[in-house]
Amino acid sequence: MGRLAGKVALITGGNSGIGFAVAHRFAAEGAEVFITGRRQAQLENAATAMDGNVTPIIGDVTDTEGLDQLFSKVHATAGCLDVFVDCAGIAEPASLEDTDEPHFDRHFDLNVRATLFSTQRAASLMSRGSAIVLIGSIAGSIGTPSYGAYGASKAAVRAFTRTWANELARRSIRVNVLSPGPIDTPMFEQATDEVRAALAEQIPLSRLGRPEEVAAAALFLASDESSFITGAELCIDGGMSQV
Ligand code: NDP
Repeated sequence: MGRLAGKVALITGGNSGIGFAVAHRFAAEGAEVFITGRRQAQLENAATAMDGNVTPIIGDVTDTEGLDQLFSKVHATAGCLDVFVDCAGIAEPASLEDTDEPHFDRHFDLNVRATLFSTQRAASLMSRGSAIVLIGSIAGSIGTPSYGAYGASKAAVRAFTRTWANELARRSIRVNVLSPGPIDTPMFEQATDEVRAALAEQIPLSRLGRPEEVAAAALFLASDESSFITGAELCIDGGMSQV
């Protein structure tokens, strides 16, 4: 029996990077998994690459109508939701001088607004014992140069976590946030070897993290093994935020 046997899980951004690793691990642990993303072929390929019960649902989480359709489909298929992991997100660099309104809006529309309205809909399908795992970033606390709007959006996710953990505790629904440091996903596709080496030098464990290492922490926070943990932030960063 897997650690998520009998549970229904929805993972936004489940067709790439951290979301893919989380969905893959959850399906292997026996969950009925739904994954979302905007790119249909990538979504279907991701679902096919996972063993287990995985349903792809195409959609843009910044679109309210799309969100309603997404959660209606989960409700119609599974009847309820036990675990929600919000992995859809963007991170683009821009210094204070270079930050324009479209850059700011892209980050806040997806990383903040969509997180709020996705979690609101997820919580409405949940009952006692359910778990919500949000994805923050250490950029939300350490002040990474050129990631001001991104860092601010992820600081908002930490604030959401604490507030919603308090609000949803009365329904015995837990809310926690994972804050990764640099993780080797398509977000780093463009990074040169020099950039990777420079990053690794800033990390006490001397390397970038792997998506599977974030998935292992997501599994812990989604499962009953963390049944007395809510409102917590877990950094998956090789020690980077501690130096
Ligand atoms: P990826 O770029 O690999 O994945 C991003 C995912 O978000 C994709 O599945 C993408 O699918 C989905 N997505 C983007 N926009 C939308 C949208 N409007 N509607 C629905 N889905 C969308 O990134 P990572 O896996 O690296 O990042 C996942 C999360 O982890 C993000 O929140 C990121 O900020 C956070 N994080 C990542 C770190 C890293 O170093 N990689 C470090 C710290 C935090 P599609 O394009 O098909 O829509």
